[in-house]
Amino acid sequence: MRKRKADTTGHRANKHCSRCGCTLRRFWYFCPDCGKNLVWGDERGVTGAECFYCGWVVSDSFSHCPWCGRDISDEASSDTPLKRPRGFQYHGRCDYTSCRGGLQYPMHFCPWCGRGQHWPFHNEYEGVCPHCDQGVDDLMDYCPWCGHDATGQDQLWPAIRRVRHLLRKVHVPDWGYRILVRPGISGVDPKYPKIVEIERRYVNERAQIDWPSLVGLVTHELGHSFMFHHWRFARSDRFRRAFGDVSKAYRGVDESWVQFRRRNLSETPVNHVTAYASKHPLEDFAETFRFYVIRRGRLKDLLAEIGRLGKGVIVYEKFLTLHAYIQELRRKSRQK
Ligand SMILES: [Zn+2]
Ligand SMILES: [Zn+2]
Ligand SMILES: [Zn+2]
Ligand SMILES: [Zn+2]
Ligand SMILES: [Zn+2]
Repeated sequence: MRKRKADTTGHRANKHCSRCGCTLRRFWYFCPDCGKNLVWGDERGVTGAECFYCGWVVSDSFSHCPWCGRDISDEASSDTPLKRPRGFQYHGRCDYTSCRGGLQYPMHFCPWCGRGQHWPFHNEYEGVCPHCDQGVDDLMDYCPWCGHDATGQDQLWPAIRRVRHLLRKVHVPDWGYRILVRPGISGVDPKYPKIVEIERRYVNERAQIDWPSLVGLVTHELGHSFMFHHWRFARSDRFRRAFGDVSKAYRGVDESWVQFRRRNLSETPVNHVTAYASKHPLEDFAETFRFYVIRRGRLKDLLAEIGRLGKGVIVYEKFLTLHAYIQELRRKSRQK
């Protein structure tokens, strides 16, 4: 007897996490808010059976538990794969042609042959978990499928800790940014200014990339986030005089960590902190922000360096513009 009789007394369908109260979707393995391990039993008494090992709802006709994958075959198991046993829905067939039994989303294992399954439906989520490649949303802390850090910040932790420390040092008030490790490209979508995506490839290539380079990349991207978040500042006269018009046409390029490695201003071009900064006012600001943060907002140092390199006065004005705005933000946050 590998299936147990479901105990349906006193159970309610738990749609909310019993630990943190957040709303759950049926058949998530973990609560995305607090990471609690979830068990979806047969609370409604629909199939009358639960897996002996994991306690999740199963059908008497199953040979394998579709949730933990273990063999639960017994005398009640069906000899042939069924399409839709009682209590389950039909969403697709087993990936393997030798089986083709019916499955309900998001069964991780075929209940008939026990083999692992892949669901294209995971694209109903906003992104992909850097640990297990399954669907996660931007605001999830824990992956509902594997239970690991859904943001991927754990993989970047030394860099993020450093950046946070630097932001505190230069007194940039936290604007609620959220760093996510995701496949694709590093960048910030102006429509979602707080979401800062870091290309997963850099995390996977950690062996070749030093932490200071990743600190530079993260800080540069945070510069974009900061600017999109403080859009009025970006449209102000002073900002425009220093950096130019950020809404002028620009096809963003894939931002590589290599560009954000250096700690010192480059000699050319004269009117920008680095060559990359001269590509577009958006990059100009993000690069200025990066140097300001990495050099701990020490304007005297930066001014001396600007003079030594024979750079234009406008470069100093860029730093001053940012500095003055951060002071203003601090004043406002203190008044609250
Ligand atoms: Zn929870
Ligand atoms: Zn199980
Ligand atoms: Zn199968
Ligand atoms: Zn995951
Ligand atoms: Zn950029």
